[in-house]
Amino acid sequence: MIPFFSDIFGNPSSDTHTYGWEASQAVESARQQIASVVGAKPEEIFFTSGASESNNLAIKGTAQFLINHPIRPKNHILTCATEHKSVLESCRSLEKNGVHTTYLPVNGLGIIDLDQLSENITDQTFLVSIMAVNNEIGVIQNLKEIGKICRSKNVYFHVDAAQGFGKIKINVDENNIDMMSISSHKIYGPKGVGAIYIRKRPKVKLFPILHGGGQERGIRSGTVPSALCVGLGEAAEIMDKEREKDWQHALILRNKFLDIIMRECSEVHINGCMEKRVPINVNLCFSCVESEGLMTCAKDVAISAGSACSSAFLEPSYVICALGITEDLINTATRISFGRNTTEEEAEFAAHHIAETVNRLRRMSPLWDSKNNRSLTRFPCHCPMK
Ligand SMILES: *Cc1c(COP(=O)(O)O)cnc(C)c1O
Repeated sequence: MIPFFSDIFGNPSSDTHTYGWEASQAVESARQQIASVVGAKPEEIFFTSGASESNNLAIKGTAQFLINHPIRPKNHILTCATEHKSVLESCRSLEKNGVHTTYLPVNGLGIIDLDQLSENITDQTFLVSIMAVNNEIGVIQNLKEIGKICRSKNVYFHVDAAQGFGKIKINVDENNIDMMSISSHKIYGPKGVGAIYIRKRPKVKLFPILHGGGQERGIRSGTVPSALCVGLGEAAEIMDKEREKDWQHALILRNKFLDIIMRECSEVHINGCMEKRVPINVNLCFSCVESEGLMTCAKDVAISAGSACSSAFLEPSYVICALGITEDLINTATRISFGRNTTEEEAEFAAHHIAETVNRLRRMSPLWDSKNNRSLTRFPCHCPMK
């Protein structure tokens, strides 16, 4: 990336001098790197500022095109309760334009029901938006089957692959994906850049949401940040090469971590399906230990309650809520992630440190004390998305 911040500072859209050409060549080669990871053509990849923008573009762009369509107007979107906020809020923002959204529930393991998906597609539906991998619980949805259903019903299939791109193999043709959102910083690339795949054949029709100089073939105006694109392209290629290795590495660390936690702590609940998931994270509920308290007291590890995007709100995670777990556990959900550069020693240290902290907090907890004597009243979950 560094040369593109200094020596090769040309604007990739400037086609009247070599500075521009050099930058443009680098951007096009990054586009190719991204395309080849998902089996797309380079001209189907458009750079954006990140997966949030890509999600906004996929949802609002197709909606704008279709709600006022002169021949076949449509006004229904089908998505899922555990999607990222950038999907949920994009859908919500279209309500004022007359677009209805159905938020499919998930089962206790975080997986959507394919029959239910199929049944909820109406002749008004233009878009199904389902994520590849959930950012809080790591669960993988069945893209291939969803894609089949969408194609057979002639509905666009958008995939938020911010957490799936590079980590699981996703081929856009094999999965009948029409649009796919990609984020750079989720694959060790720079922050502030992402991409969207938009299918050429059969062609996805959508309006841009950013207007201006017409960069990215009119789909996304604004100067293309060549240095960031180069970083994203390289990160994508490395992810593709290292996929198996990264997966195995994370799996070993996660299993080691879980072994220690389960040995040293009682009453630990794992959120989300253990089979259909990526190994890079695990989401745990430690009964009677709120994640806020755990994060504050386990000072030597960097862990989170749910996602970085909503942890500022101090409200229970709607993703965990959607799993239907008991109310007394919701605020205890804690996400622990294992990266490419995390070592086994670090994972073991984290497990011991977290287990110790959980046990220490429980010893001070009147709730934990009374729990063993009287059974807790279990309330149903009041999920805001349901
Ligand atoms: C991080 C993330 C996003 C947002 O991506 P940005 O590039 O940060 O805008 C969207 N969806 C999911 C599932 C994510 O994990």
